[in-house]
Amino acid sequence: MALETTMRDPVELSDPLECTEPHPAPGCDVCGALLRQWHQAKEVGSPAYDPSHATDLAVEIKRHPHAWQKEKRS
Ligand SMILES: [Zn+2]
Repeated sequence: MALETTMRDPVELSDPLECTEPHPAPGCDVCGALLRQWHQAKEVGSPAYDPSHATDLAVEIKRHPHAWQKEKRS
């Protein structure tokens, strides 16, 4: 039954970023600090618990520019 659509997936705006731990650049203080905040924002029961903020932080870590990474490639 190709036309039959089952409700297998929960109907909610689940951002894939929320379930994936961000990978900060090694040695980057900013990324490290962001990751620490991300862990706090992800921790249920923590005063800093804020899933949407965690998503923002994950995006920030992924987008954090590292000029030195380019320099080291050669
Ligand atoms: Zn960084």
